[in-house]
Amino acid sequence: MSTIGILGAGQLGRMLALAGYPLGHRFRFLDAASPTGTMSDSPAGLLADHLAFDYADKSALEQFASGLNVVTYEFENVPVEAVRHLEKFVPVYPPPMALEKAQDRFVEKSFFCELGIPTPTFTINGLSHGLTDASQNGLDKRTLSRTHGRERTFDEVSFPAVLKTRRMGYDGKGQVVVKSEEELVNGLNNGLTDENGQTGSLILEEFVEFERELSIIAVRNKSGDIKFYPLVENQHRDGILRLSSVTGNVSAELQQQAEEYATSVMSALDYVGVLTIEFFEKDGCLLANEMAPRVHNSGHWTIEGAITSQFENQVRAVTDAPLGSTNPLGACAMVNLVGTVPDVEFILKIEGAHLHLYDKAPRPKRKLGHITLVEKDVETLHKKLDLIRTVYDF
Ligand code: AMP
Repeated sequence: MSTIGILGAGQLGRMLALAGYPLGHRFRFLDAASPTGTMSDSPAGLLADHLAFDYADKSALEQFASGLNVVTYEFENVPVEAVRHLEKFVPVYPPPMALEKAQDRFVEKSFFCELGIPTPTFTINGLSHGLTDASQNGLDKRTLSRTHGRERTFDEVSFPAVLKTRRMGYDGKGQVVVKSEEELVNGLNNGLTDENGQTGSLILEEFVEFERELSIIAVRNKSGDIKFYPLVENQHRDGILRLSSVTGNVSAELQQQAEEYATSVMSALDYVGVLTIEFFEKDGCLLANEMAPRVHNSGHWTIEGAITSQFENQVRAVTDAPLGSTNPLGACAMVNLVGTVPDVEFILKIEGAHLHLYDKAPRPKRKLGHITLVEKDVETLHKKLDLIRTVYDF
């Protein structure tokens, strides 16, 4: 059995450990979020050995690596240099190249294009020169993106558009919808701040009037075996995921398309571990928005809703064990608890509802936990979601 090092000590790390203990593994966490802190507010803090230091501290990284069989991570903004240093001492999965692609939205979308995976139209060109509304020019930008797989010039992105920080933006942070050239120039002049309150390079994307947001969660082990969970339908508010569901309302063609895209990403990166790609569904096609080289919030339903959870499969993949079945066990949903937690007793009284709390102090927009449901049919699932809605707005 292995001792697994995890970079990050949040709820994803906590759930990885909870899935890995029954397989006999041990865990060690690195919490760089509170380098001098005690990890008291880290969801994984109570579960395993942990070290708290800065990623730039190479000797501490070596101390962390000592005795580990493998290292993985639970968030993608780990400095690549730190991961490359760790790799000298212990295998690290998913490969650092996946981090490099995922950390920068422009690199990421260009990578999708190179692989022939359609994306929303995007550009980093011309941002400092203002933007021309190209909505009149009759170009089908999505087709262009798919056919040529090349970077757009700025006048090929029309309004409304989304201005985003290239790095360190997630859960709706570091992005703004701009509806006119004036708003764009404003956004450019004022800068956008990312997760760390920093300003940096920006990317401009077309605003996609999508029908749905879907994500594919795939897993590949060292031997190259790949498995896929069914496409998950995701609903966001203020850029934060609120509801994920798997109800069998995705066509086989769309599923196959998503699996092909995930396979080409994983093959190109010689990937090991769980990979998530988030898509917009538009006119029956998938446009890749972003990827996460890790277990993902839209996969939490798998804890009770699939034969093997994404967390267990991540552990299996990085320890080169056979992958577990990804088949769903019914109509599934996951409700994120953001900012507040509803009445616990009420939730626990709902038959079949599973509550997962992350041991985090409440704060606006903070993910504090989630609820999962697995039902025999979609109708019952919706009834139970409606019941949750009576005490919790999601
Ligand atoms: P992201 O940080 O890129 O995952 O964006 C968070 C959420 O903002 C997405 O899940 C979408 O709901 C929305 N969003 C991001 N980019 C776009 C876009 N280009 N067009 C429309 N909605 C977007």
